[in-house]
Amino acid sequence: MPKAVVGRIIQLQRHFLLGKKGDNGGNLIAWDTIQKPRNQGGLGAGDISLKNVALLFKWWWRLADDQKPLWKDVIKSNHEFKHLGDFQERKKQSRTSIWGQITDFGTFNKEIQEIANIGIRVKVGNWACTSFWLDKWIGDTSLRILFPRLFGLSKQKDDLIMDMGEWERGVWRWEFKWRRKLFAWEEDLLMELLLAVNQSPLRLNTSDVRAWSGGKFGLFSVSNFALQVNKQLEIASSPPHQGILAWRNAAPPRAQLHMWFILHGKLNTKVRLYRFGVKGIDDDRCVLCKEEPESIEHLFFGCKISSSLWYSCCERWNISMCLPNQPKACLLSWLGAPFRDHEKRIWTTMFYVISWSIWDIHNKVAFQNFNPIWEIEKKRLFCRLESWMKGRGQVPWRQEIRLLR
Ligand SMILES: [Zn+2]
Repeated sequence: MPKAVVGRIIQLQRHFLLGKKGDNGGNLIAWDTIQKPRNQGGLGAGDISLKNVALLFKWWWRLADDQKPLWKDVIKSNHEFKHLGDFQERKKQSRTSIWGQITDFGTFNKEIQEIANIGIRVKVGNWACTSFWLDKWIGDTSLRILFPRLFGLSKQKDDLIMDMGEWERGVWRWEFKWRRKLFAWEEDLLMELLLAVNQSPLRLNTSDVRAWSGGKFGLFSVSNFALQVNKQLEIASSPPHQGILAWRNAAPPRAQLHMWFILHGKLNTKVRLYRFGVKGIDDDRCVLCKEEPESIEHLFFGCKISSSLWYSCCERWNISMCLPNQPKACLLSWLGAPFRDHEKRIWTTMFYVISWSIWDIHNKVAFQNFNPIWEIEKKRLFCRLESWMKGRGQVPWRQEIRLLR
């Protein structure tokens, strides 16, 4: 996929999720965060350019497997592609056709090449498809890396294993060709090399098979490849994230997304709107208590009005809890309550019910002059909980909820 097309698709995704520039005075969440997988704190939208690489690699993988249809021969001969293990050795050429790009592994960036290198394994059978120097057919490293000196001297850098010797009265004899006569210490290296290669016996009735070390049963899949790339790119760049917290519960997706925004500290509270000078916002006071600045921490957990919802709920469940101000700490402490199994599911979902209800009431007060009667709102929490649990097919719930009321 050309870069321009990738850029256009990402632009369409951004417009769909975040709106066009200028629609709402800035995006709440960075696009990079939205692209990350959910277990890394993202929204799991994925990176289309990465998907593109993974799809290209799938074709490379199909070229490299042990099947031998005619189309492979045509592609190989058209693109002067002698052996599939030689991607690192190929000189960089200008390749514009799609097959040119796929067969020229150099077009993938360094990280992708590294992941591909780590992922590809060869189980040798009849030696007919495996490169002696370039494939990893003994252990985790290619012989090119293990014996760089001998590789440098070899005149058979691209050869398959089966082309590196011949049968003589039923016994295999290696025929190595060197650029010059080996020195004595290089002969020692050769002995080591022979010891290594003789560990992997020839099996005439079995084909050489390429396996993908990250996949189930060695099978390659685009999603697994993308996952490996993502992992690799994420390792150094981000601290461990409890992003998964937002998703494992019975709340409907809109409430989970709402919690995801809270956990990221991104919600259009008055503090944020006031800071950006949004029209019609004359102060940053909380719309519920009208006393303190309306940050996420205050609105959901610190406000003397809204916090009554949390504590009345704790009271009914007979739990004594002092909720921290930070959303993540608060959720973790809520999840630490001594419930098990189904009760735990109900209790967890209640956290989402309360935060969603606070935001709902906040919006109605801010935009519809709503005057909440808090005793009724507390009862409404349970109706909402009941309907959410019902919506997710979480039965039997009725008895537990009734007991806890
Ligand atoms: Zn308040």
